[in-house]
Amino acid sequence: MVSSEDDQEKAVPRWLRPIAGAKFYCSCETHRSKERNYYCRVCMVSFCKDCKEQHDRSKHEILKVYKTSHAASFRVEDLKPLWDISGICMYTSNGWLVALIYKRGIGISGSRGKKGIAECESCLYGLKSPSAKYCSVECKVEAALKMNGSGSITEKAKRKLETMLEEIAHDVHSFRKRARKQKKPQRALSH
Ligand SMILES: [Zn+2]
Ligand SMILES: [Zn+2]
Ligand SMILES: [Zn+2]
Repeated sequence: MVSSEDDQEKAVPRWLRPIAGAKFYCSCETHRSKERNYYCRVCMVSFCKDCKEQHDRSKHEILKVYKTSHAASFRVEDLKPLWDISGICMYTSNGWLVALIYKRGIGISGSRGKKGIAECESCLYGLKSPSAKYCSVECKVEAALKMNGSGSITEKAKRKLETMLEEIAHDVHSFRKRARKQKKPQRALSH
């Protein structure tokens, strides 16, 4: 039972799981003029250079994010010691090998079965390298989590998460309903 959690941690480290939702290169909420190009592996959030200076004191492990043709990416030499990045398509940017963070495709195959064109196993984006399997970090994370989802423990965890999400959706719904109900009498008065 313990080994299953270990396997999952190896397949996708905890800090990488929310990576698809992390926002990079948009302005920092605290420092509006700065872009968020750092990611803390402990807090699992993105932030800007100014935030990073305050953050360093707590000795959190921070990864720098780079921009590659307008797309956010990690440098391979930063990522490689932390996770098995085999299969992810690599690009060169300013002489550095990088892996893109966000998925590129939208799940529609562009090659229509044409031979010799590799496609991302998660999003079907056409890959320039025939030996690659994924276009991005996000797509490998997605695939690895799916693969691990077959175990009974993870299935249970998934169901738990689904119920949690349903509950949140329900709460939001009923909150909106309540908010609407409260507004109505006011509107009626102003008529
Ligand atoms: Zn942190
Ligand atoms: Zn900031
Ligand atoms: Zn992909």
